Amino acid sequence: RPLIVWFRQDLRIADNPALHRASRSGSRLVCVYVHEDDDPAHDDVPAPRPLGGAARWWLHRSLLALDADLRAIGGRLLLLKGPAAREIPALARRIGAGAVLINRVYDPEGAARDRAIGERLKADGIHMAGHNALLLHEPWTIETKTGGPYQVFTPFWRAARDKGEIPPPLAAPDRLDLVEDAPEGVPLAALDLLPRIDWAGGIAASWTPGSAGARDRLAGFLNRALTGYKPDRDRPAGETTSRLSPHLRFGEIGPRTVWHAVHHAIEAQGLTGPARASADTFLTELGWREFSYHLLHHFPHLPARDLKETLTGFPWREDAAALDAWQRGRTGYPIVDAGMRQLWHTGWMHNRVRMVVASFLVKHLMIWWKPGEAWFWDTLVDADPASNTASWQWSAGTGADAAPYFRIFNPVLQGERFDGDGAYVRRWVPELAKLPDRYLHKPWTAPASVLATAGIRPGQTYPAPIVDHDQARERALAGYAQTRKE
Ligand code: FAD
Repeated sequence: RPLIVWFRQDLRIADNPALHRASRSGSRLVCVYVHEDDDPAHDDVPAPRPLGGAARWWLHRSLLALDADLRAIGGRLLLLKGPAAREIPALARRIGAGAVLINRVYDPEGAARDRAIGERLKADGIHMAGHNALLLHEPWTIETKTGGPYQVFTPFWRAARDKGEIPPPLAAPDRLDLVEDAPEGVPLAALDLLPRIDWAGGIAASWTPGSAGARDRLAGFLNRALTGYKPDRDRPAGETTSRLSPHLRFGEIGPRTVWHAVHHAIEAQGLTGPARASADTFLTELGWREFSYHLLHHFPHLPARDLKETLTGFPWREDAAALDAWQRGRTGYPIVDAGMRQLWHTGWMHNRVRMVVASFLVKHLMIWWKPGEAWFWDTLVDADPASNTASWQWSAGTGADAAPYFRIFNPVLQGERFDGDGAYVRRWVPELAKLPDRYLHKPWTAPASVLATAGIRPGQTYPAPIVDHDQARERALAGYAQTRKE
């Protein structure tokens, strides 16, 4: 009987265990993607969180790329629209499938949906088989000595490393045998993923979605930035990090492939000393991605509420004007504004700046992390069900192994330390470009004559700071004192 390979967060043909197994079974197959965003929960079966705008743009391009990759080996991608709990069992009945092969997802709704669909298929005598494509280690395979989940990164990662070798990535199938009378499905345009008003020009100029784009990014990173990653990764200007995050998010490349490519580079380039330490630091970042999924699986309420009650009673503010200024990159703090504008234009922001802007929202503006997380969800091409919520809670101080809640980043010092020559701020906040370095991260301290020469009219061409750093810090600390009282 034919097989269904149902693609989700694994939009690739290489190192795709579900596809690999189906292609070797000798059965004919159907490769399908089901877009269920606009039709959420169905018949009591939950659906994953609908994608944000930037991720929808990415998905459109990624599905095109996956279809092309499948066609090159004799396949094609069938697109369906609607709740998967309806579409997958209907497709299975229609083609008389013997099994549905998936690579597992770990967001609580997606996992519950898969379990429910598995039950329905079973009732029809159809088997659903799950595999791991998304992670180095699935969340339940790493546990503390007492058998529970980890909540601190370092011992988690030590335990993960102790699990032994990561299996090598699987090759892409040479050839697929498709079911001949499979349904037509819907055209890609019917998924309506692209924005009506085209705001995605900057995103399109920055990225090449799909596995080929992912492999190019990886190769470029390994050749140019891996050996300097440890000292350089905190500098937001230039290509100091891999920018693999959206490719990993959609599974266009898998972590096993990245892992083995880095180890190959270590050997091929004979890396030792600081260069070797840089490679290890990069692999540890993959560990943070694993840790986020570990947390999401074991603490499924992570996206909804504070993981730790450190901030219960904190006087969060609702301030629509401040939230708007933050979203639009008009806070008057250049490093914050540069980050928020990079995010809007390219769908991505450098990690150091993500930490600074998140801290600014929750500490300087005292706005709860949820609206910040929601904005990132809508605007990031790498918006990830695990990493986004885990990182926001980390920044707020409510997450597992979080930044201390009372540590308040000074956005001026952060800017001066990590963007000392101002290349990043000048790129994203061009109205400040002519300001000398010493004033660039604190334009309000520049003498009037300097501002005039640089063509800056405070409050007109660039906003005055929406909060004073020292006052905001005192205000947040007073709020924390309140939580301790409660
Ligand atoms: P590199 O430095 O090249 O790292 C390689 C890979 O490791 C990344 O692609 C990513 O998959 C993983 N990684 C690196 N740092 C982290 C981290 N701190 N947590 C989890 N995984 C990590 N990352 C996302 O992928 N999706 C998100 O939605 C997301 N939201 C974030 C929100 C906030 C407030 C913060 C502070 C961080 C967030 N991150 C998120 C983590 C991190 O900023 C990005 O993964 C990283 O900037 C991606 O760039 P890169 O691929 O060049 O990373």
